Amino acid sequence: MILDQFSLKGKVAIVTGSNTGLGQGISRAFVEAGAKVAGVSRRPSTETEEMLGKDNFYNIIADLSSVAVIPEVVGKTISRFGRVDILVNNAGIIKRQDSIEFSEENWDSVINVNLKTVFFLTQAVAQQFLKQNSGGKIINIASMLSYQGGIRVPSYTASKSAIRGITMTLANEWAKYGINVNAIAPGYMVTNNTQALRQDEERSADILARIPAGRWGTPADLEGAAVFLASAASDYVNGFTLAVDGGWLGR
Ligand code: NAP
Repeated sequence: MILDQFSLKGKVAIVTGSNTGLGQGISRAFVEAGAKVAGVSRRPSTETEEMLGKDNFYNIIADLSSVAVIPEVVGKTISRFGRVDILVNNAGIIKRQDSIEFSEENWDSVINVNLKTVFFLTQAVAQQFLKQNSGGKIINIASMLSYQGGIRVPSYTASKSAIRGITMTLANEWAKYGINVNAIAPGYMVTNNTQALRQDEERSADILARIPAGRWGTPADLEGAAVFLASAASDYVNGFTLAVDGGWLGR
């Protein structure tokens, strides 16, 4: 039955940035599809835990701006759920400042969370997949700025363009182990990440006018793509960044 291929029954996922926005939506969808989720966040994922229940969702508090937390994130997931099958690198930050005066701090903080930790957490989880001899699924959260330049967000654009690049690199190296590495590029979604943009009336109206679907996206819009890329249904999909953008990129 084709729908069985989308089931995540018995699977264990690590989802970073699980307390709000897209990470909360992905965690919810994974549990509904049958998985257990270890959700990583700086602030507690209390709401997500209440929504999904303690049997299905385990919150790991960690600051992903440093790679030092990676052994703890993987170790706690294994202690709680015994294995790991799926990693969603969703946690991310954005800093807005004119490029002419963009600070080193705004550069480093974004690159550390959005790129450096993503790479080394992915490496650690892939090492675990090899130890389990199980294969596995990696899903990176990219952006429209994996394709476009953006305005006043140079470190974010650098990180998200690089995410699309390493998604292909890692897929090239690891497809032979049964590890699928893919990414999702969300369009303009209603979350904390875009609050400043949505409050800027002119930018907000410009953005909306360009979205063929005629509306901003919501976390629920991402759930189908996330379950697909986490499931057996995508076993022959490698190194691809799937836009979920209401048609933005095609315009
Ligand atoms: P959000 O509502 O701002 O959520 C970001 C999440 O990342 C939060 O759970 C946050 O936890 C976590 N996070 C940030 N820094 C962290 C750190 N140092 N350590 C641990 N967790 C950290 O944003 P979102 O829109 O859901 O974004 C999720 C992903 O989608 C990001 O990678 C973002 O770049 C990407 N994206 C979003 C959009 C959009 O339109 N919203 C579009 C394209 C791509 P804390 O609250 O504890 O910091």
